[in-house]
Amino acid sequence: MIHLYDFTLDELRDWVVRELGERPFRAVQLYEWMYQQRAKSFDDMTSLPKALRQRLNEVAYLRSAKQVVRQDSKVDPTSKFLLAWPDGVTVESVLMRHDYGNSVCVSSQVGCKMGCTFCASTLGGMIRHMTAGEMVEQLMHSQALLDEVGQRVSSVVVMGSGEPMDNYDQVMRFIDIITNEHGLNIGQRHITVSTVGLVPGIRRLAEEGRQITLAVSLHAPNDAIRGRMMPVNKAYPIAKLMEACHDYYRKTGRRISFEYALVAGENDSLECAEELADLLKGLPCHVNLIPVNYVPERGYRRTDKKQIFAFWRALLDAGVNATIRREMGHDIAAACGQLRAQYANRQA
Ligand code: SAH
Repeated sequence: MIHLYDFTLDELRDWVVRELGERPFRAVQLYEWMYQQRAKSFDDMTSLPKALRQRLNEVAYLRSAKQVVRQDSKVDPTSKFLLAWPDGVTVESVLMRHDYGNSVCVSSQVGCKMGCTFCASTLGGMIRHMTAGEMVEQLMHSQALLDEVGQRVSSVVVMGSGEPMDNYDQVMRFIDIITNEHGLNIGQRHITVSTVGLVPGIRRLAEEGRQITLAVSLHAPNDAIRGRMMPVNKAYPIAKLMEACHDYYRKTGRRISFEYALVAGENDSLECAEELADLLKGLPCHVNLIPVNYVPERGYRRTDKKQIFAFWRALLDAGVNATIRREMGHDIAAACGQLRAQYANRQA
C-alpha cells in the first residue's frame, strides 16, 4: 500500500501515470483533494471517476496515525498531540495559535540519537525516522482542528523530537510537499528547520537554496560548555559550526536563528553572554533565549528571570539581535519528548 502523503506533486504525477494509467491532470486533482479540500477518504473525491476512486482504495491510503493523547493548555491556545503509527511508535506534535497565525511543531524522528544532556527526546535513543508522509500527517492533524474554525496552518517548525539533518531527504521532501501551490501552499519563509549543528546538513541546505529559516541549537559560547551539553560538539566543534553558518549566510542571504537554552550555573553567566556576542560578531543572525525546560531525568535547573533579562540585556548591549522566547503552553508542553516518555512508562 502506498502512503499518498509521501509523494511530492511530481512524484504523484509519475505514479498516477505509470501505475494507474491515468492522465497527468488527475494527479493535480488528487493533490488538491488531499491538501486543499482536505478529503479524509478517496470516496470523498467526487470529481474523480468512480473506478479511479476504487482503484485508489485498493492500492493507497491517506491517514495512518491515531491520536492517543491530546492536551490543551489552560493558559493559551496551545494543543499538544501524541500520535501513534501502526508499527507502535509514537511522536509528539504541537499546534500553537498566535495572533499572527497558526504554527505547527513537527517531529522528524521517533526519539533522537544526538544525546543532548538537557533534552528528553534522546532518553531512549532513536527508534526510527519519520517519513515525509508521516510528517505531513502531523501537520494535517492540526489542520483538521483548524478547519473547524476556518483557519489554516501558516507556519511550520521542525523542532519536535529528532534531528532533521539526520533525516535530511525525508525532511526536505516534506517541505516540498507542503509548500506546493496546488497543496497547502505554505510559504518557504514560514518554515524553520532546527539542527543540533550537523555541519554536512547545513552545507547541503546552503547549496540547495531553499528559502526556509535555519535554526541552530548553539546553547553555549565555547567548546568546553557546549561539549558538556551536546555530544555532537565533538564531531562538529564550534569553529567548524560557525564556519558553516557563515558560508550558509553567504550562499543564501538568510539570517540564521540561534537557539540558546539558559541553564542555571551552566551557560548563563554574563561572561558567557559576552563570549557569545564575540562569537556571533559579523554574522547576521538572531538569538532565541529559551529558559530550559526542566527534565527530571536530567536535573538541570532553569536560569531565574532576573538573570535571563540580564543575559538578554548584555547581548543587546553588545549589538546582538536577541529575544526571549515566549513560552507557549508551558503547563502542558514541558520539554520536548516528555509526553512520549510518560506515555511509554504508563504502557510498560
Ligand atoms: N534536533 C534539533 C531539533 C529538535 S530540538 C535541534 O537540536 O535543534 C528543538 C530545540 O529544543 C533545540 O534547540 C533543543 O536544543 C531545544 N531543547 C531540547 N530540550 C530542551 C529543554 N529541556 N529545554 C529547552 N530547550 C530544549
